[in-house]
Amino acid sequence: MRDMGQIRNIVILTGAGISAESGIDTFRSEGGLWEQHRVEDVATPEGFARDPDLVLRFYDMRRAAIQTKQPNPAHYALARLDNEWPGELLIVTQNVDDLHERAGAKRVLHMHGEHLTAWCPSCDIRSPWRAPLMDRPPCPVCQARTLRPDVVWFGEMPYRMGEIYAALRTCDLFVSIGTSGAVYPAAGFVQNAVELGAETLELNLERSQGSSMFHETRLGPASELVPQWTQEMLR
Ligand code: NAD
Repeated sequence: MRDMGQIRNIVILTGAGISAESGIDTFRSEGGLWEQHRVEDVATPEGFARDPDLVLRFYDMRRAAIQTKQPNPAHYALARLDNEWPGELLIVTQNVDDLHERAGAKRVLHMHGEHLTAWCPSCDIRSPWRAPLMDRPPCPVCQARTLRPDVVWFGEMPYRMGEIYAALRTCDLFVSIGTSGAVYPAAGFVQNAVELGAETLELNLERSQGSSMFHETRLGPASELVPQWTQEMLR
């Protein structure tokens, strides 16, 4: 790794693994099921068109569940780094939970949406949302009963890609935490970062699919690895 003193701009990509120790299931459990459902049924526009009740109930349960979970030491360590790091820093999360924000992080971008907002396709406005969507409540802006989870499903375009690529272009260090490297375009960010000359570090429980592209990989639970790494950065 380059001397840490030369690092100024940092992009941090987080995935489901950073929230695993807060009690939120990761995506690909054994057997390829996500909380007993096929991904195609609950995380695609086609699945939603086929059985909207199933999909709304599924996300209602997850929205309720995350509100009972708490950030873990990995979220708090990143929030501290965000608050104290003098250079540019962007936490790009694939997670739809709000644990980075609840730990105190400010520079957070949710590329796959958020459980705690609802999107109205009728007026294209996103509203803060904590209640169920199953009963088709009216949109607070246009009153249409078309609210859906503000979550990017497979086959849909992730949010704010222009901002993410702009940050990747100017970063000196790209860090990937708790993500399997199976979901694109996020899985391709490490290659962008390497091609643009950034240092790259992976922190994960096990090697991700793109692990060989990182300059350094550290294996272990996020609650231990992330505080160790942020401590090194802030020394
Ligand atoms: P993933 O489930 O595909 O991979 C999780 C990764 O985390 C794996 O590499 C695993 O080894 C690692 N991991 C598990 N426990 C860990 C721990 N304690 N410490 C460190 N690493 C650990 O998740 P992904 O790569 O984020 O991609 C899948 C998609 O799942 C994303 O699009 C995301 O929107 C969605 N998702 C989000 C949440 C959430 O918001 N918390 C939860 C489940 C799925």
